[in-house]
Amino acid sequence: MHIERRDFLSTLTLAGAATLFTGNSLLASTGPKKEKLGIALVGLGYYSTDLLAPALQMTEKCYLAGIVTGTPAKAETWKAKYNIPDKNIYNYKNFDDIANNPDIDVVYVVLPPSMHREFVVRAAKAGKHVFCEKPMAPSVADCEAMIQACKANKVKLAIGYRCQHDPNIQAIMKIAKEPKFGKVKMVTSAAGYFDARTDHWKQKKSLGGGVMGDMGVYALQGARLATGEEPISVFAQASTTRPEIYKEVEETMMFMLDFPSGAKASCQTSFGINMNYLQVNYEKGWAKLEPQSGYNGNKGSLSDGTVINFPIKSQQAKQMDEDCTALMTNANLIAPGEEGLRDIRVVEAIYKSAASGKTVKI
Ligand code: NAD
Repeated sequence: MHIERRDFLSTLTLAGAATLFTGNSLLASTGPKKEKLGIALVGLGYYSTDLLAPALQMTEKCYLAGIVTGTPAKAETWKAKYNIPDKNIYNYKNFDDIANNPDIDVVYVVLPPSMHREFVVRAAKAGKHVFCEKPMAPSVADCEAMIQACKANKVKLAIGYRCQHDPNIQAIMKIAKEPKFGKVKMVTSAAGYFDARTDHWKQKKSLGGGVMGDMGVYALQGARLATGEEPISVFAQASTTRPEIYKEVEETMMFMLDFPSGAKASCQTSFGINMNYLQVNYEKGWAKLEPQSGYNGNKGSLSDGTVINFPIKSQQAKQMDEDCTALMTNANLIAPGEEGLRDIRVVEAIYKSAASGKTVKI
């Protein structure tokens, strides 16, 4: 049989698409023309309630199609508020049945970090694409298992790094790629707030608590994104001013990073101090953002007088729309699982350094 190269290529493309989407609902159950993907939020705590569900009322490429909760009372409230049909409401036990639900294209895991791995893997096995909140997981081993499960089940995994979808942070990332002020010499990056809670998963090691995985990833991302590099070593110090609350995990982490180019970063993160800024000193200028990781209002300036102040209606809506567009067009995700893993690799080294009092190579 003679196959024209063009025919062969288009057959290959179709075959590739079929392979890519086997096992998930995006094409299999709904056809390629679904205009909005259905998202199911897993875990209806603060972030789902106050940020993600409201953002899903603004999104153009996705909508709140379902919920997964361990609290029946929450299911009733959400069902009424967002008009969610009973067939799209799951609990942690029957969650795996979501595999048979064509309304759900994406499962968004918004649980304490220690639970991310289990629910990402279960979602992947159910053939659903997965969004997972930061920090991706408490360990590199968890992150690798999550990436592997998504690959094995031919679904995609995005981490909820909303700031990477924010044009204000993107302006700083751009300078790392197109150096207008020469090389990066020093980054100062801080992300913290005063958390008044006294009995929360953020204070429990077994649930993935500790400030480093929480606000700490914003301080770390500031340094990684501003340099456009991965750190090669770290020296870190953990501390707490409220040992009666932060018994198992740190309240504050300070860490210094070295990058291959010679750039350095001094980073701070805390559950006891309100601070949120990024300063980048280049060979011939500087960039500043304050706040750097707010939900809105991230803004700053460059030493040449450029103002960075892009308005953004909802970071979360933009993040979910952009990630869903990537799923629908088979384009690269802005922050895939591998990006979450890069952070956790550094976070593990930070904990090692804080425990040993020594500089740790990454
Ligand atoms: P939260 O404590 O408000 O909510 C956690 C949810 O998990 C609740 O619905 C709770 O019932 C449920 N849950 C199930 N099992 C639990 C258990 N064993 N212990 C505690 N809760 C349990 O937390 P949150 O602030 O909504 O954070 C959830 C995730 O979202 C975390 O990964 C967090 O880092 C992330 N987050 C991200 C942002 C962001 O800006 N991207 C902001 C806030 C939180």
